[in-house]
Amino acid sequence: MVPLFVLDDDILQSDYARPNRLAFLLDCLRDLRAALRERGGDLFVRSGDVVAETMAVVRGAGAQAVWVSEDYSSYARLRQRRLEEACSRDGIELEMRPGATVIEPGAIVPIGGDHFKVFTPYSRKWSALPPRPLLRAPRRVPEDSGLTRGRLPALSSLVAGTVSPELSTGGESEARKRLGRWLRSSLEGYGDRHDDLAGDKTSRLSPYLHFGCISPVEAVARAAGKPGAGPFIRQLCWRDFHHQVLAAAPTLPRADYRPRGHRWSDDPQGLQAWKEGRTGVPIVDAGMRQLAREGFMHNRARLVTASFLTKDLYIDWRLGAAHFWDLLADGDIANNAGNWQWVAGTGNDTRPNRMFNPIRQAHRFDPAGDYVRRYVSELSGIRGAAVHEPWKLPEDKRAALDYPGAFVDRGALRSSFPGGHLGQD
Ligand SMILES: Cc1cc2nc3c(=O)[nH]c(=O)nc-3n(C[C@H](O)[C@H](O)[C@H](O)COP(=O)(O)OP(=O)(O)OC[C@H]3O[C@@H](n4cnc5c(N)ncnc54)[C@H](O)[C@@H]3O)c2cc1C
Repeated sequence: MVPLFVLDDDILQSDYARPNRLAFLLDCLRDLRAALRERGGDLFVRSGDVVAETMAVVRGAGAQAVWVSEDYSSYARLRQRRLEEACSRDGIELEMRPGATVIEPGAIVPIGGDHFKVFTPYSRKWSALPPRPLLRAPRRVPEDSGLTRGRLPALSSLVAGTVSPELSTGGESEARKRLGRWLRSSLEGYGDRHDDLAGDKTSRLSPYLHFGCISPVEAVARAAGKPGAGPFIRQLCWRDFHHQVLAAAPTLPRADYRPRGHRWSDDPQGLQAWKEGRTGVPIVDAGMRQLAREGFMHNRARLVTASFLTKDLYIDWRLGAAHFWDLLADGDIANNAGNWQWVAGTGNDTRPNRMFNPIRQAHRFDPAGDYVRRYVSELSGIRGAAVHEPWKLPEDKRAALDYPGAFVDRGALRSSFPGGHLGQD
């Protein structure tokens, strides 16, 4: 068996290749290599065209079959098709196994459709399916192909730019520790506390799931049956849901899933302020600064910041998604595009005109203001919930802050929003 990872030139030259994700990926590969070495094997590393490199390894090792984990973006599918053709030309067996999701896209479909457009009926069917069996890693992975192993490149040779200072460490070992610790300490309270911004009680497994450090089947299996498992498993179902949408609608990252005739505003200054976390709305700025500092953002803050961009500033969701894409370690085509479209009202939300009122959300999910103070240092001296509305401070205090005034008039909500009134959550 020759465990192989090919650093795909096309991906390395695309906008997927950002410092946070590549740093995380290199951690994953180092950890995987160490685990394979402990089992008497190794990780073989190549870079270039995935199909050509794979077929060269097949020939070098005299292999009879190639096993890959299936993926669902349009690019991944094209690559898989090319690999299928190359294998069939050379008389090599190709096994594509499900692995990225709990239930494969297309495994459950509604009557008369090729995918579910609404989450609830999908989740009902999803929950009724028996889980795929959980396979253990083999104790030994002996290797005697005689092939060169290949070096793992340095991050600086792959991408320019800096990594977020508090980026998590990648890899299966870290993923397992995290999952075990989190199941023991936080699963039970997840239903009540997953929206608590300051409490930070979610699993933070998303980048590990994205990079395949831990299988979603394992996450479900290890949580199932424990108190509090339901709401957590439901989130993993959301992940599968977006993957089946992407598989059926490959243009999801680019085109409105449900076009609604938006004429987004051209507001480079607003976009820049949002990216920098200087909109003057503390909860929005805290989320954006968490993203820059950690390469991660709490889900509630993702909802609030994305809603602010698309429904307060009325800026195209693609521009917001691109910025998240630049920084998120868990940046994932299906989840990023699916969630952005959900928030923008062009996706799978059954209430497309929902908007998150950032002030209301701040008081509800960061009632003591600790989340804002953690990330917005200019406001760290303001006690309690007053931190959410610095414009209400006495003028002298307000003027002493090195913090911008809010530039969006939330009283005058966009009357141009298609479909009429925005319902505020
Ligand atoms: C605008 C926006 C963009 C997003 N972009 C991404 C992205 O690029 N990659 C990504 O993995 N998630 C994305 N999400 C979904 C969600 O915010 C993250 O998965 C979650 O915050 C990760 O934190 P966690 O692992 O602690 O989650 P937990 O609350 O512990 O949930 C467990 C797992 O369930 C999955 N999950 C949770 N919520 C969602 C969701 N809404 N959609 C899909 N899967 C979910 C994740 O894999 C997560 O690790 C986005 C959400 C929004 C609103």
